[in-house]
Amino acid sequence: MTALATALSTTTTPTELPAQLIEKYSVAGPRYTSYPTALMFTEDFGADDYQQRLQKARKAVAGLSLYVHLPFCRRLCYYCACNKVVTKDPEAAERYLQYLKREIELVSKLTGKRRPVNQLHFGGGTPTFLSDSQLIELVHSLASHFNISDSDRREYSIEIDPRTVTADRLALLRGLGFNRLSFGVQDTDPEVQQAINRVQSTAELTELVGAARAYRFRSISFDLIYGLPRQNCQTLSTTLDDVIALEPERISLYQYAHLPDRFPPQRAIERQTLPSSAEKLAMLQLASKILADAGYQHIGMDHFVRNDDDLAICQRAGRLQRNFQGYSTAMAPDLIGLGVSSISEVGDCFAQNAKDLDQYYRALEQNQLPTERGCTKTRDDEVRGYIIKELACNLHLSSQALLQRFGLSLSEAFADELKRLESFVQDGLVELSAAGIQVTETGRMMLRNVCMVFDQYLDNHPDKYSRTL
Ligand code: SF4
Repeated sequence: MTALATALSTTTTPTELPAQLIEKYSVAGPRYTSYPTALMFTEDFGADDYQQRLQKARKAVAGLSLYVHLPFCRRLCYYCACNKVVTKDPEAAERYLQYLKREIELVSKLTGKRRPVNQLHFGGGTPTFLSDSQLIELVHSLASHFNISDSDRREYSIEIDPRTVTADRLALLRGLGFNRLSFGVQDTDPEVQQAINRVQSTAELTELVGAARAYRFRSISFDLIYGLPRQNCQTLSTTLDDVIALEPERISLYQYAHLPDRFPPQRAIERQTLPSSAEKLAMLQLASKILADAGYQHIGMDHFVRNDDDLAICQRAGRLQRNFQGYSTAMAPDLIGLGVSSISEVGDCFAQNAKDLDQYYRALEQNQLPTERGCTKTRDDEVRGYIIKELACNLHLSSQALLQRFGLSLSEAFADELKRLESFVQDGLVELSAAGIQVTETGRMMLRNVCMVFDQYLDNHPDKYSRTL
């Protein structure tokens, strides 16, 4: 029986979404990979400010997270909203690599190389646009300047475009220390793939996943998108059938936001080929049910994981964390972003590198950090950021923990927010008690909405966010 047939023939699950709730809570809102969100960063915060934070971070003993942005892609996916450079010129990556190595050196001089790197993530763009020798050179540069870990508990992940790797390349990545792979799948239907200009075969994906298992990658995750052109419930359920058969530990299911004025590649998508809001709603309901039936738990914010996955275990234990790379089990307190447009969170600040390649290169030519903007968190930001993280990760905010950590009474300091949560209580999304705030099973799907109640900057950029559902 297909996933679609099974989903249609079985009774409701705790994660099935009532349509009227989806309509009510489908509003524009952040994904809260940070608080304040990147839209609040300003140019008042610059390279000197970030340099001070990095120097201060040198004294810390806790681990570090590193994110490396590799922006190149060979072909343009029409749905793309990422910071990338589409080129077939291998020299472009070579030039970038030399500047990236300069940045690595500059940053490591400030932080020292003592702190163990618990987390490393290569994102893009397409990290595997780099040749084997370029990947080796980059990892060696990181290892020369930072304390790269060989602990089994490290989380070293890389985003994989299946069209750019072979089983041999996966073996190389494993040898370089990566233990987690994130495959960009999006949709397995040939017509949908044509419509988004991203054609890749399920047979090749299956082969790669088999190789990844043989090389003992600890975790495999797939990125999927719903709401794409030519997609419908049938194509989505076939995609989910294909994906579930490969047994990834984690699945991210994002909603496609069609914003051609902001993201020019999307102008290649014909509006009339997009599913309607009602169809998207049906797809989300169907996908939630199919994934729940297949044993995936919705941990929140578009992420589904197998019940025995580390993220699910951590969430049940109240220890899940979240940063720009999404959910994590072992997040270090400081995250250093390297490469064009990457974002760092160090001490009390966020700092973002130049988004434009030439500006990024120019700063490094002058031996300066390529920081373009950022912000210093206020105490109120710290408190609200903590609340949002607790709700987004662990589905619970403890009044006691808030009091102990910040000396604040939830009922007094956030009386207005608790009042606004009352309608969430009536809709069965959260439960309020003296112990704190508990997100319910149904509320997992509306986590972004719950977090938005505590976001004091929400009205600053109402038109810049994607829809929550
Ligand atoms: S979606 Fe990913 S692979 Fe496609 S163009 Fe954008 S960054 Fe590149």
